[in-house]
Amino acid sequence: MEIVHVAAECFPMAKAGGLADVVGALPKYQVLQGHIAKVVVPMHRTEFLYQQQWELVHEGSQYLGPQFFHYSVIKEKSNGLGFDLYLVDINGLLDREKIYGYPDDTERFIAFQNAVCDWINSWKHLPDIIHCHDHHTGLVPFLLLHGIDFKERLAKIPSVFTVHNAQYNGAFSWEQKYLLPACSLQYWSLLDWHHQINPLAAALKTAWKITTVSPGYLQELRSSAAGLEQLFENEKEKSIGILNGIDTSIWDPGHDPYLLFHYTVSTAKTGKRQNKEELCRRFGLEVDRPLFCFIGRMVHEKAADLLPVAIAQAVATHPQKISFIVLGTGEKSIEEQLDLLSGPLQGSVGIHIGYQEALSHLLYAGADFLLMPSRVEPCGLNQLYALRFGTIPLVRAVGGLKDTVRDMGDPGGFGIRFEQPHVTDIVHAIDRAVSLYYQQPAHVDSFRQLVMQIDHSWHSAANEYLQVYKSLK
Ligand code: ADP
Repeated sequence: MEIVHVAAECFPMAKAGGLADVVGALPKYQVLQGHIAKVVVPMHRTEFLYQQQWELVHEGSQYLGPQFFHYSVIKEKSNGLGFDLYLVDINGLLDREKIYGYPDDTERFIAFQNAVCDWINSWKHLPDIIHCHDHHTGLVPFLLLHGIDFKERLAKIPSVFTVHNAQYNGAFSWEQKYLLPACSLQYWSLLDWHHQINPLAAALKTAWKITTVSPGYLQELRSSAAGLEQLFENEKEKSIGILNGIDTSIWDPGHDPYLLFHYTVSTAKTGKRQNKEELCRRFGLEVDRPLFCFIGRMVHEKAADLLPVAIAQAVATHPQKISFIVLGTGEKSIEEQLDLLSGPLQGSVGIHIGYQEALSHLLYAGADFLLMPSRVEPCGLNQLYALRFGTIPLVRAVGGLKDTVRDMGDPGGFGIRFEQPHVTDIVHAIDRAVSLYYQQPAHVDSFRQLVMQIDHSWHSAANEYLQVYKSLK
């Protein structure tokens, strides 16, 4: 089978979050299963772009409203990623340092999607599946079916749309409809949701199949989806939740190039201790205390706004007994409040504001506990990485966290779950972890060994996607 993945991010080319990890891993596993998997993303101006060799494979032109634009498609030459990576360049629109966050993001992603459809339409053969990810590619399923330039050849290609995060839907005003590629008037209602053009809604209505990144998230979207609940309910017959996997060749404490000290299940105790010492040295923390960490976007969804108060309370409840490291970036007000903690709580708390892949790996390896108090968590990869690195997760029971973390109080459990994204629940979860750490150290070791052996690799998820594709042929 030949599958084309269309997305805004793909690790290691461009990453803002979990979307990149999925788009950089699933295709690799599909190739291992014997399929052809191609990934196409915008040509963001990232370090990876300059480190690799590229060859030009296609050039074309399209319109963005009245403006004619030229685009080119380049392909990564080494094939070292395990799948074919293609980048679309549209001069002035896509070649930027950040992936998102520009005032003309609507124009940028419309032009990208238009170019992708035009490029695929130029192929001599057609792919078996076009698999789109999140709202930046949500117009593609619609354009394949109803784009005047595309539908004749492309309407027969099954499209799959994966919802990684429905908090963002890319909606824009109908006044900007002139930016869209030509399509028949009678289908315009498929683009509409609440009197706006809504790419996520368009994808839900027109993709042949919808997947979400965990079964729990699919359920939740019917009652909480930033205004699209009814649509998720309407389209439930063609929707399925498939839990993300993790790329165990990249997230591997035995070989991780970001780590100085490698370890396996049998050497976890010493290996984790060595990484913890390295972390504590960097952040000026006491190594014998339990080390908690938070890694992620500092946004409301992740309940990062609760961290400053929760951390201050937890440290006050357990003076000189716990350490906390936070790595993340996002809303300025949260970043500032966290930064303010590092002065008075010096010696107990380390804060790193920014995005740092290497530090995130060291944290998964060196921390004892990972906190995820999320209000919304479509799948959550952090807890899966933590498990792989023998770090015990403390999670709010929501979305994919609920699907992947069992409370240690339950049979076969290994993590700590709490019900509400509230400071009291977070502090209580930390209390439980602190007691475990000081009073039952042997249990900590056995939980570590247990969680490191849980299989969250992509093999089973890749099979589930394959079943979805086959059901459409
Ligand atoms: P999201 O909703 O942000 O996609 P996920 O849990 O699915 O959340 O994935 C988050 C990914 O981003 C993980 O690989 C995590 O390690 C990484 N990540 C998030 N913030 C940072 C950061 N500040 N520095 C390094 N990695 C980060």
